Amino acid sequence: MNSDQLRTAKPRTRAVHAGTRRSQYGEVSEAIFMTQGFVYDSAEAAEARFLEAGPDEFIYARYGNPTVAMFEERIAALEGAEDAFATASGMAAVNGALVSMLRAGDHVVSARALFGSCLYILEEVLARYGVEVTFVDGTDLEQWQQAIGPGTKAVFFESVSNPTLQVVDIAAVSALAHEVGALVVVDNVFATPVFSNAIAQGADVVVYSATKHIDGQGRALGGVVLGRREFIRKTLEPYMKHTGGSMSPFTAWVMLKGLETLDLRVRAQAQSAAALAQALVGHDKLARVIYPGHESHPQHKLVADQMGQGGTVLSIDVRGGKDAAFRVLNAITVGVISNNLGDAKTILTHPATTTHQRLPQEQKDRLGISDGLIRISVGLEDERDLIADLLGALDQA
Ligand SMILES: *Cc1c(COP(=O)(O)O)cnc(C)c1O
Repeated sequence: MNSDQLRTAKPRTRAVHAGTRRSQYGEVSEAIFMTQGFVYDSAEAAEARFLEAGPDEFIYARYGNPTVAMFEERIAALEGAEDAFATASGMAAVNGALVSMLRAGDHVVSARALFGSCLYILEEVLARYGVEVTFVDGTDLEQWQQAIGPGTKAVFFESVSNPTLQVVDIAAVSALAHEVGALVVVDNVFATPVFSNAIAQGADVVVYSATKHIDGQGRALGGVVLGRREFIRKTLEPYMKHTGGSMSPFTAWVMLKGLETLDLRVRAQAQSAAALAQALVGHDKLARVIYPGHESHPQHKLVADQMGQGGTVLSIDVRGGKDAAFRVLNAITVGVISNNLGDAKTILTHPATTTHQRLPQEQKDRLGISDGLIRISVGLEDERDLIADLLGALDQA
């Protein structure tokens, strides 16, 4: 497909074909260019390329590589972004997006409910370099409005928070930020590129941990930052290529192949997650079932507008606290106890003692991370097996 045909193609078609670069051998599956460097035809050619590299000209794999470029172009096409830069991990993407655009004296407003490492960057790293950060309840537009002011340079949030699955209104928060000229950076991991197009909804910069649904089979760490070409190439790329957070060619190949099946996998996983939530709502061993796609979710209408579906993750709050939650986890036979998400395997996590263990109790209370809470990332197993597994394990609670 040529670029004009790709532009009008549907997302699933773009996810299979966009960004393909064929070598002289005409390979069907994308080649892995496992090389750190590139040979120049002459000294003059090297000089010219260092002055300005063309779209098919590479210098050093930390700056760019053909396999990595294929992944960047493919996910940019899928997301509807002008450009993308692939990173060594999701955290390299979050750190790069924020640190490359901020300087001492800037003000940032961030949602409080964040992945632990994101919280570290906002709370520790930015503060150390003189950036002031105000934290708000991401679901409360009034708090966003009060915190965002003329000095605000950026706002940051996870569109669906981990592990309590609160949803931030991308369009509304973006409108508030844009009134003062602040850039909106959205970590869209839980929503996935399949269910939410954050750029079309108002975000300026979108980051993904590709480790999650994009790989989707638990093999490799990776990340990506998407946005306008000017931002990606003039602000982000210099920071990333000189500080070393670039994606490896082999990882880019894993992620490229992941994009081909992303839509199918994520839709199947979300369908099973919805079925599992439906089977668990009202269970007498559970104080709460949190699933953005279920009508009991407090932001069900926003979820329908912003994501269409509820995604691949649900959380349950087992009555009886930690002991009961541990009995459930230890009785699970189909799923596994681990802490990745978006994987083909169903993964169960006890946030209070693992991913969020270090948060002070009052912060856990404020975020709703109770001792009975279990996060379930629904995989590709048959939903009937998953429902039977959970119902059987709940008998042990
Ligand atoms: C996992 C995750 C990250 C970090 O990604 P890594 O690939 O593990 O570095 C960032 N944000 C969210 C919401 C995540 O779930």
